[in-house]
Amino acid sequence: MKSLLITGCAGFIGSNFAPYFLDKYPDYHLVNLDLLTYAGNLENLDEIAGSDRYTFIHGDICDRDLLEQLFSQHDIRGVIHFAAESHVDNSIKNPGVFVQTNVNGTFTLIDVAYKYWMEKPFAFKSGYEACRFHHISTDEVYGTLGETGLFTEATPYAPNSPYSASKAGSDMIVRSYYHTYGMNTVITNCSNNYGPKQHNEKLIPTIIRKAITGENIPIYGDGKNIRDWLYVLDHCKGIDLVYHSGNVGEVYNIGGRNERNNNYIADKVCEILDELRPKAQGSYKDQLNYVEDRAGHDKRYAIDATKIETELGWQADESFETGIVKTIKWYLGKA
Ligand code: NAD
Repeated sequence: MKSLLITGCAGFIGSNFAPYFLDKYPDYHLVNLDLLTYAGNLENLDEIAGSDRYTFIHGDICDRDLLEQLFSQHDIRGVIHFAAESHVDNSIKNPGVFVQTNVNGTFTLIDVAYKYWMEKPFAFKSGYEACRFHHISTDEVYGTLGETGLFTEATPYAPNSPYSASKAGSDMIVRSYYHTYGMNTVITNCSNNYGPKQHNEKLIPTIIRKAITGENIPIYGDGKNIRDWLYVLDHCKGIDLVYHSGNVGEVYNIGGRNERNNNYIADKVCEILDELRPKAQGSYKDQLNYVEDRAGHDKRYAIDATKIETELGWQADESFETGIVKTIKWYLGKA
């Protein structure tokens, strides 16, 4: 049995990833380190809570003593690092915690891993040669696009929000541990995820929640901002592939080639709700309400996923139109 440290698994993506991964790999023991901030919810992990191959640790990735203790107690042989502050709006109001968790936290985690797995630069301890550090990041590090073009792994970093700047900083730290110390790192930069278990504050859960509670559904600015939407399980499958087969020191962009603007997303969600849970009168679209734009709102993100598709054979199974139906059904089941 091999123990892997998976950080931030009580959050949206980690809580979709952990059950999938545990089920697929019977030889892994997953140690989930999560601080349970407002974004973490252990109920998201009810399905694996009783597994003897799953251990939950309540704690902070910035806590070096705790990390050192966890590495030696569980003899950690790999890290998949999800934990982060992740909401752009919060980073505008309170950037300090983003730097603390995303930059300092990632540094502390990778530094503890380095010292546990390696004797010195480019020399692994005997038996630890295969230990890998997988950093989960975002396409937002590349900044914003005009009407055309796609983010590739070679696109220069140009983060625009405190969130994306702190993620960019964490990516650079991970990169430096590969180049300076020869650590076995991989980084994945993914586009916007949606699906079950996402926190209420994010766009799609907000649209669904406000729609079914009869409130105004807020849309920033003119609603024309474009994101490249990926169903969360497709992201999890990409992480699995990169963790197991990605080349050392490499970066892989993950995106579903599903560019949609916010107006389209809101209309689509309302149309599906009109079918699945019709209102007594009218359409959910009647509740759409344009509000003041987010400060510094990036116009367009879109990923070129050619590298992971051609080198590792990854492909998204869901289009936005199939994934969104699954997502809405999940939220209606929970409401
Ligand atoms: P999330 O906000 O839903 O979950 C983050 C989790 O990290 C929570 O459980 C929280 O309690 C935990 N956490 C926060 N600070 C911590 C700390 N100091 N120590 C330990 N745990 C801590 O985030 P998510 O949407 O699941 O995103 C996971 C990762 O994927 C993040 O690194 C994010 O940048 C990246 N990402 C997200 C998206 C997306 O669309 N959601 C897209 C691309 C990349």
